[in-house]
Amino acid sequence: MNEPASTASPTTCPNCGVEMILVDRSTMSGDDMRTYRCDHCREEKIVDFGMATWKALSDARKSDK
Ligand SMILES: [Zn+2]
Repeated sequence: MNEPASTASPTTCPNCGVEMILVDRSTMSGDDMRTYRCDHCREEKIVDFGMATWKALSDARKSDK
C-alpha cells in the first residue's frame, strides 16, 4: 500500500497526481463544495473547502452585534 504524499494538494488527482480542473462549484448548503475533474483519467472528485465565503461573512455580521 502506497501512502499518498502528505503535501499533496486537495486539487490534484489521487490516481495520477496531476492538477485537476474545476468543473463545478456549489455553495448552496453553506459549504464551499467544488467538483474537480482529472483530464488524464476522467476521474471526478468533490473537494470540501469548508464554509462558503458568503456564509462566513453573514455569520461574522451576526456575531458582531
Ligand atoms: Zn488522474
